Amino acid sequence: MRFRQVTLHHIRMKLKSPFTASYGSMHERDCIIVELMDEEGVVGWGESTAFAIPWYTEETTKTNWHLLEDFLIPLLLSKETGHPAEVTPLFSGIRRNPMAKAALEGAVWDVFAQRSNASLAQVLGGSKQAIEVGVAIGIVPLPDLLRKIEQYLAEGYKRIKVKIKPGHDLQLLHGIRQQFPDIPLMADANSAYTWQDLPQLQALDEFRLMMIEQPFSADDIVEHAKLQAQLNTPICLDESILTSQDAKHAIELGSCRVINIKIGRVGGLLEAGRIHDICQQHQVAVWCGGMLETGIGRAHNIALTTLPHFLLPGDTSGSARYWDVDIIEPEVVAHNGMI
Ligand code: MG
Repeated sequence: MRFRQVTLHHIRMKLKSPFTASYGSMHERDCIIVELMDEEGVVGWGESTAFAIPWYTEETTKTNWHLLEDFLIPLLLSKETGHPAEVTPLFSGIRRNPMAKAALEGAVWDVFAQRSNASLAQVLGGSKQAIEVGVAIGIVPLPDLLRKIEQYLAEGYKRIKVKIKPGHDLQLLHGIRQQFPDIPLMADANSAYTWQDLPQLQALDEFRLMMIEQPFSADDIVEHAKLQAQLNTPICLDESILTSQDAKHAIELGSCRVINIKIGRVGGLLEAGRIHDICQQHQVAVWCGGMLETGIGRAHNIALTTLPHFLLPGDTSGSARYWDVDIIEPEVVAHNGMI
């Protein structure tokens, strides 16, 4: 493949309702959509999952634009690409910035799939015809949360993920368990806890959570291993896993029993597939996380989730969960918790 042109679209989408995590609240979603055309006019699409503010990781919409415009796009246009797996090595001279790389790499996979007359899922090696999906709910007062959970369960979503932070955890989970004793439930802390909170973290064990996601610092693997040894609840790592090497280290140290794979955070579909394979070899569970994507990023998440070891429902809900109108047609629709 020889690529002729890349167009970057900066779009701003209004969320149906604000999304709040331990780091802050989002009312609108700023993102970059990548439109990549090859010399035969085949167009592929990618999406940067960086937020406008660097509170999930250090990347932002602006830093991604800079990396794409000044470094990554010129590199991609400078060479012929035989296979999308060549893109990650091509970008390896540019340090980090995984979301910027993933946005362009995803568009290359899309062009490749179309040229192969196959779906994105097929060229990634995925075989499932449908995937189970769950829903993530931001921080809201308990009565609102219970109402939302009821609504999503009625829509058929297979598991509920809630956001927690110190002071907004035990009572909240107690309230949920009183009304919904047996639903598959997990809690995401987005790095809001420290060793001082050990008693609260241990108290979470009574709620039979599927997992607690990223309790400690976003760049830590070692302290999570010590914490996992003191908790019955499985730890899931999200922010800490940026590469397949990180996944190997976390598994070796016993830092987690579950890994949340996000295509943007790990630098693209190739690396996401590698992490999937490592977890499969070591029998560590994986699921696909969400970044409030538009339909383009959502479609990439769905394709990735068709790989065999994505055995837990992910965050990839239908478009209507976040948007009045999505940017793709048809929109992503979940039927009874399946896409
Ligand atoms: Mg998370």
